[in-house]
Amino acid sequence: MFEFSLLQNITLIFTQSPLFFLFIVALVSLSIGSFLNVVIYRLPVMMQNEWHHECKLLLTDDLKKPYVNEDVKTFNLATPASTCPQCQSKIKAWQNIPVLSWIFLKGRCASCDNPISIRYPSIELLTAITSVVIAHYFGPTAISFTYLVVTWCLVALIFIDIDHMLLPDQITLPLLWLALLASILGITITPAQAIMGAMAGYLCFWSVYWVFKLVTGKEGMGYGDFKLMAVFGALLGWQALPMIILLSSLVGAIIGITLLSIQGKDKATPIPFGPYIAIAGWIGLIWGEQITTAYYQFALGN
Ligand SMILES: [Zn+2]
Repeated sequence: MFEFSLLQNITLIFTQSPLFFLFIVALVSLSIGSFLNVVIYRLPVMMQNEWHHECKLLLTDDLKKPYVNEDVKTFNLATPASTCPQCQSKIKAWQNIPVLSWIFLKGRCASCDNPISIRYPSIELLTAITSVVIAHYFGPTAISFTYLVVTWCLVALIFIDIDHMLLPDQITLPLLWLALLASILGITITPAQAIMGAMAGYLCFWSVYWVFKLVTGKEGMGYGDFKLMAVFGALLGWQALPMIILLSSLVGAIIGITLLSIQGKDKATPIPFGPYIAIAGWIGLIWGEQITTAYYQFALGN
């Protein structure tokens, strides 16, 4: 088959020159990072528009009347084109080059001089660095590709959760399907392990949530967190879950203490739990086996 041999040739080139492979991954993931900025900003707005629309529909007396919403404009990940939030001038192609444009424009809009947040190039760089780590560790393989897609989704999830305290189903559920598909294709663990892992991941946090709620009357986590744990269970198996939970608490403690020392005790803002799970799970993808082995050796005193 033509496509298959083409794929084989590309894999061969990448295997023979690992640096070229890392370079391509860096370039591609920089542009992906640029797109993730759009996702992080627009997806929550799209969700809010949809909820608003649904609530309006629900409250309309005559549901049989065709519902017309005159103020709905096309707003999705592709439309409208990106504009400066200050002066609304369209961002031209050369101004949309990841990281470089921001540096070249000295972090300001070309038309109105309004500052552009350093967050945009930071997310692009973060996407590129984490992608190169995955590509370096797993090489030009199917598991590398799977983990790259997971990494990109995690970047979007982390920043949406920080901004809006939610992990959209539009990202967590396809990730779960990807993890299950990867197991069927023989890329990760066996399908039986993946299904068990997904259930265990969801249920372990779900039960913690209910115990916590019954004891303290507070909600410490959301359902998005359970789904994210299901994703990691499906990717790594249930055996990896205790390690991810411990690691996420550790990451949470480190970030929490850092923020406390920067922002001061009373100013410290509550942080959603999703980013900690995402970071811990991502570390688990790469170093999970070593961490678990080291832990058991330590625990058993060998
Ligand atoms: Zn402007």
